[in-house]
Amino acid sequence: MVEITEIPVEGYQCVKRAIDPVSGLHAYISVHSTVLGPALGGMRLWPYASEDEALTDVLRLSRGMTYKAACAGLDLGGGKSVIIGKPSMKSDAFFEAMGDFVESFGGSYITAEDVNTKVEDMGVVARRTSHVVGLAGKSGNPSPKTAWGTFLGLQATLEDVYGSDSLEGKTVAIEGAGSVGSIYADYIAKAGGKIIVADIFAESAERVAKATGGMVVSPDAIRSVECDVYAPCALGGSLNDQTIPLLKCKAVVGAANNQLLEGRHGEVLRDRGIRYAPDYVVNAAGLINVFDEMRPGGYNEARALKAMEQIRTNMHQIFAIANEEGICTATAADRFAERRIQSAVRANA
Ligand code: NAD
Repeated sequence: MVEITEIPVEGYQCVKRAIDPVSGLHAYISVHSTVLGPALGGMRLWPYASEDEALTDVLRLSRGMTYKAACAGLDLGGGKSVIIGKPSMKSDAFFEAMGDFVESFGGSYITAEDVNTKVEDMGVVARRTSHVVGLAGKSGNPSPKTAWGTFLGLQATLEDVYGSDSLEGKTVAIEGAGSVGSIYADYIAKAGGKIIVADIFAESAERVAKATGGMVVSPDAIRSVECDVYAPCALGGSLNDQTIPLLKCKAVVGAANNQLLEGRHGEVLRDRGIRYAPDYVVNAAGLINVFDEMRPGGYNEARALKAMEQIRTNMHQIFAIANEEGICTATAADRFAERRIQSAVRANA
């Protein structure tokens, strides 16, 4: 029997902890907001050092999902689940207990795969709850869609900075030649752009350089190369006090989550005259894609691709807010999301 306890947290709609002595499950689910719709967010398995660390992460991530969905124009709120543990702890009983935990939210939280959980694990979760998306045979691997959405964000940013979305004669420095970075590089090269790429696994970077006619540099050098756009597609925190002074680009447009080490780094980029495309706005296509499973008739790829076009429009609106209000683009994106949530609150009042 899974022991589920509610933890009151100010500013959050519902946060709960689950412990299952039989399977060893120790997890948290946070529903930050359901103002715009049910709270969708992945199920992360991570060896957190403490309960506090896991709770802090689930709160931060669920709030981030509220903003991402609001900016993407989706009728979704923000939620997330985290499980304290390692992949070696996985078992059917473990994910069935997690399914019971998800089900305890009665549909206000919808889960999906995330770091260290896979589509097969979601199949086990689905034995106990119908509130799961991204199952086998549905919207599929989100990475190609995330890469496409990031490319749309890149085009909008080029229009803003250079007055044209053309990639001819433009160089993009990609940090991280993984699932998203490698496909993003393909889109850029096919549109006439030049690629410089780095990865901690040199062979991944070399593969991308070969496929795109690009050039490899070391992970240490990628932030200081001459380029038009720096594209963080690896881990978070790559925009910080050490790296921002090194940048020799006009814009930053990448897929990595949480690129700004601290919120103030959005202002630091602005002060350096670098246009920053907020990460959660340009990397939302995976979420837009999986959300399509919940629309009438189930997943329809053409409809999902059409919905992703919104990323381009949103970027222009965010640039306009930043210009009009004299703020950085990261703050403008937050305001854009908050205004959509506030108007839904007023409409529901
Ligand atoms: P991935 O693990 O496939 O690729 C990441 C790549 O970055 C790997 O090849 C890794 O070796 C490389 N890397 C790690 N540290 C590096 C460093 N210091 N310098 C250079 N390269 C480094 O991950 P992914 O699915 O491509 O996701 C990339 C980023 O985009 C992540 O931050 C992820 O959270 C974010 N994101 C991904 C999706 C998606 O659909 N996959 C959606 C939204 C956001």
